[in-house]
Amino acid sequence: MWRNVAPRVAQLSPLERVRLRRIAVRYALHGWEVTPGACLARSRFVCGRAGCPTVGCHPALEEWQQGASADPARVATWWRSRPHGVLLPTGRAFDVLEVSAHLGRQALDTVRTHPAGEGCAGRSW
Ligand SMILES: [Zn+2]
Repeated sequence: MWRNVAPRVAQLSPLERVRLRRIAVRYALHGWEVTPGACLARSRFVCGRAGCPTVGCHPALEEWQQGASADPARVATWWRSRPHGVLLPTGRAFDVLEVSAHLGRQALDTVRTHPAGEGCAGRSW
């Protein structure tokens, strides 16, 4: 099973670390759950779990689905100790739809020129 280790991570300036923490806390204050992501270490992300094969950005918490929090104090604590990536679980407070830039631009243009005006709340595309 996983056990935590202390990986060497990229050294961020104190200002950059504060910036990451501030961004994470701001999301929490908005009511969005946040979870710490793996830390950037040279050319890969490391979560601290021994033997983790994932090199891309991924959650640092093993049980991140249950551990994600919108409590600003808890979120600030996570980012106080390490320069985690900032991850927001989707499917809870909001969803994300990833489309190509071309299709996204077309959708935004359609919204802008729609007779109802901008903001298509309640519409599905
Ligand atoms: Zn990992």
